[in-house]
Amino acid sequence: MDKEISKLINKELARQNGTINLIASENYPSKEVLEALGSVFTSKYAEGYPGRRYYAGNSISDEIEELAKKRALKLYNLQPANWSVNVQPYSGSPANLAVYFALVPPGGKIMGLRLDMGGHLTHGHRVSATGKLWTQVPYGVDSKTEKIDYEALLKMAKRERPNIIVAGFTAYPRKINFQKFGEIASSAGALLMADVAHIAGLIAAGVHPSPFPYADVVTTTTHKTLRGPRAALIFSKKKWSEAIDKAVFPGLQGGPHLNQIAATAVALKEAKSADFKKYARQILRNAKALAAELKRLGWRIVSGGTENHLILVDVARRGLSGKSASDLLEGAGIIVNKNTIPYDKRLPTDPSGLRIGTPAMTTRGMKEREMIKIAELIDAVLLNKKPFAEIRKEVLELSKKFPLPY
Ligand SMILES: *Cc1c(COP(=O)(O)O)cnc(C)c1O
Repeated sequence: MDKEISKLINKELARQNGTINLIASENYPSKEVLEALGSVFTSKYAEGYPGRRYYAGNSISDEIEELAKKRALKLYNLQPANWSVNVQPYSGSPANLAVYFALVPPGGKIMGLRLDMGGHLTHGHRVSATGKLWTQVPYGVDSKTEKIDYEALLKMAKRERPNIIVAGFTAYPRKINFQKFGEIASSAGALLMADVAHIAGLIAAGVHPSPFPYADVVTTTTHKTLRGPRAALIFSKKKWSEAIDKAVFPGLQGGPHLNQIAATAVALKEAKSADFKKYARQILRNAKALAAELKRLGWRIVSGGTENHLILVDVARRGLSGKSASDLLEGAGIIVNKNTIPYDKRLPTDPSGLRIGTPAMTTRGMKEREMIKIAELIDAVLLNKKPFAEIRKEVLELSKKFPLPY
């Protein structure tokens, strides 16, 4: 193997094994997923869809793609008569772009949660292509509860008449009421797109309500709680599927990454298992335990707690900035990301909060006991309670007890 690259890969493996990863959007896929990613499917060109390819030699590619689709529908108990799935999007952002490209006329309105309140760039933010080609109707969370105010959303939707409403977020620690979103979309004559990138694994395991009874389209990444390769899926009601397939290819993409699709198929099968359900339940228990201990130590948790895999901590309350807090923690081997909090008074480049998630460390086998320990370590770093070298040593010991699955 390329010596320079292999050295860097081994260094990264050591970094991952030696740190506590609390990035809410990251996870560790299985060895089987990585094997499929590094397989000979990397070499194959398969522009088009199964049975309708532009290149020869694709009979096995067709089998892989069909299998991935079958597993995707099965994971969420969807009937092929009503739902279709596109497994070709390279990642979450292009998947969302494809949906708008298919279903929203140029200049049309996308109603999405504001980026600084937990939405994603691709929900119509002005720096994203989705905010340049379409118009965002931004909604926020309530200033007191820091939760979605469904009554306010209904009023906004009726007033603005958006083409599409996006439900599903990047930094929102609460359950999403997809039923309410469905009612709001119908009463405003809008389509409902659920973007479940963060919570797809939780939905698959039945520990978060499902958007499928209410949404027209559901997009998701496969590399967050779903624990697969970096990729994305677009589920759609039959009525929209042809337009969406055309938007993905030839609208936006060229040849699909079949190695990625093979790896997605592996992850989708894993996610159907009883072990995965147990895993998802533990993600939630771990998040609750971590939030409760941070709260006990005096930290303000945005919205007062968590109902999913992530926690937003308001560090500005204690005189820290999100960036300095994240930098301090990284120095100690605890990896988080700085994040805005609702109605943030600071700038996005150095906001007031930290986003902390449990999916990755739960994959490595940690339970509530370790979460309480991690909360104490975070508190000790941020409030300078112990000598730094001592904390770094404790983090290293703890993380090494829970190595990566390969
Ligand atoms: C992560 C995420 C995306 C984008 O995924 P990428 O693969 O990074 O492009 C889209 N929407 C939401 C809600 C996300 O959390």
